[in-house]
Amino acid sequence: MSHEIRHDWSLPELQAVHDTPLLELVFRAATVHRRHHDPSEMQVSKLISIKTGACPEDCSYCAQSSRYSTGVSPEKLMEKEKVLEIAGRAREAGVSRVCLGAAWRNVRDGESFDRVLDMVRSVTDLGLEVCCTLGMLNEHQAKRLEEAGLYAYNHNVDSSAEFYETIITTRTYADRLETLANVRKTSMTVCSGGIIGLGERVEDRLEMLRTLASIQPHPESVPINVLSKVPGTPLESQADVPVWDVVRMIATARIVMPRSDVRLTAGRAKLDPTAQALCFLAGANSIFSSETEFMLTKAVPSPSYDADRVLLEALGLRMREPFASSHERAEAC
Ligand code: SAM
Ligand code: SF4
Repeated sequence: MSHEIRHDWSLPELQAVHDTPLLELVFRAATVHRRHHDPSEMQVSKLISIKTGACPEDCSYCAQSSRYSTGVSPEKLMEKEKVLEIAGRAREAGVSRVCLGAAWRNVRDGESFDRVLDMVRSVTDLGLEVCCTLGMLNEHQAKRLEEAGLYAYNHNVDSSAEFYETIITTRTYADRLETLANVRKTSMTVCSGGIIGLGERVEDRLEMLRTLASIQPHPESVPINVLSKVPGTPLESQADVPVWDVVRMIATARIVMPRSDVRLTAGRAKLDPTAQALCFLAGANSIFSSETEFMLTKAVPSPSYDADRVLLEALGLRMREPFASSHERAEAC
């Protein structure tokens, strides 16, 4: 099985995997999935927007960028008590990870960061895995998050290096990779993935997977987003992503990063239960769910806790407990 954990995939190899006849590809991915994960388990996360909107970056898909008028009202840093209330309800709903998202370009030392560190400690004390996605981090800030007990840091590469500069101009791909390297210098796990449906080529999607799989060890979580078209953003009128493209992306990510949690994230609300089931069969073993039926902001819908409970039950899947991922189990033995 260790031969399946590779960091040197070539683009032609990835293209060959991706272009495998679809049901054969799903079967291959499902086989790899079963070798590394309990196929009856689904890791469920809840996103909490702790600082919303007014982001100075120009990510062309994002509802929170101050560059676009998307109707998202800026909100300052949330009080810890409110974060704990939401996290407590998420825990009761069976969620194992809470992701604290702040619409910042990067973390700045000072009172706000200190408050986020305090949130990390308190939400961890609820028995939940905590992830933060706060923008770019330096080494010292990554260290402070580790010391606060943070379980994961999310920082998506989003696409290929080449395509990236056509969708974001206020930072570089190298900036993203530097933050991931800073996180990798700690014991925190890495959550990094991207989006399809931005207008990229399949090669860009595969180059993204190639970049992610070159990280050693592989990111422990790989979110695969499907563009949620936000009115007011430059990508508001993109063509829909065919469901087969989503299945291929999930299956290829599974084969390329066997031990990672592959998360079917934004865009899942638009997939019918059958399409979601096929993605789970193809190795997606992680989702976001929500009490508010949206992800970080009202601009990006999310399935609800209740809808997901019905879906997981129908599919014979149970929600994973906190701190019980396959890489946790692998390290334990
Ligand atoms: N501000 C932080 C950052 O940019 O890293 C975190 C905010 S949010 C978690 C960032 C990620 O959410 C993006 O990298 C993208 O992958 C995803 N995302 C944001 N808006 C989206 C949209 N409209 N459709 C699909 N995915 C989206
Ligand atoms: Fe800001 Fe993150 Fe949205 Fe980009 S994706 S505009 S960095 S909140």
